[in-house]
Amino acid sequence: MFVIAIHGGAEPLTPADLSEAEQKQYLQGLDEALTAGYDVLESGGTALDAVTAAVMAMENNVLFNAGRGAAFTAAGTHELEAALMRGDTLEAGCAAGVVNLRNPVLLARAVMEKTEHVLMVGSGAEEFAREQGLEFDSDDYFFSEKKAEELQEKQEAVTRDTIGAVALDRHGNLAAATSTGGLTGQLPGRVGDTAIIGVGTYANNDTCAVSCTGDGEFFIRTVAAYDVSCQIGYQQRSLKEACRSVLDKIAALGGEGGIIAVTPAGEVALEFNSGSMFRGWRSENGKGDIRIFRTE
Ligand code: ASP
Repeated sequence: MFVIAIHGGAEPLTPADLSEAEQKQYLQGLDEALTAGYDVLESGGTALDAVTAAVMAMENNVLFNAGRGAAFTAAGTHELEAALMRGDTLEAGCAAGVVNLRNPVLLARAVMEKTEHVLMVGSGAEEFAREQGLEFDSDDYFFSEKKAEELQEKQEAVTRDTIGAVALDRHGNLAAATSTGGLTGQLPGRVGDTAIIGVGTYANNDTCAVSCTGDGEFFIRTVAAYDVSCQIGYQQRSLKEACRSVLDKIAALGGEGGIIAVTPAGEVALEFNSGSMFRGWRSENGKGDIRIFRTE
């Protein structure tokens, strides 16, 4: 049994907000990312490699707010953050406040695998990434017309097309990874939920693997991802109920977003309280779904 689920962010979108061509591009981007992760799982690879591959595919796709398509800060810069966690050992790695790095998820993974630390930020994290041979690129690579317009035209608007993946592999192990450029117009130096273990990202073989997207501050205040895990572990709630309950707490505080999660039994949840969430899942026999808008 294996399964992967991904998100490309939860946003207040209705079908009227995206042209058919745009919808097609997003669906294709999600399909490519799912396929990258699915192929790893199908060939017997690990959940950790699968979520890394899926997240990298979306970091390389300018449509999504991570890596190449990262949102602009109020200063017109891009500050990247990412995290990943494995459910068997509870090892985790995160990076935040990093600039010009193509694949922040690889830095998070190197922090986990090559250091004694969990979270690294700023210039020290960048220096470490260089030592690890990770690829940096020019500001031009990270320029996206869409994100630049969002900064100019709607300073108040949020970009929430952060990306993430959760997976269960054939060996019974879970993993989660999340990567983002943060919120459009955020103050330089702001760190969101993505890079914080137990908030935007969490994995534990005893309960579930979780990746979140949305108004990061609300996810931090509700310790969202760990709350999903706790509700399953302590209260024996179903995965869907646990995700909904956390989203309800976030909504009660005035926040919006989405949560994807998977259990060791292969149960998948893709829940959101916003208008839309770019999302998809695929399991062993190729069964799955890719969607943007609400279905109900
Ligand atoms: N959660 C991210 C943040 O607050 C934004 C997003 O999900 O797109 O940085």
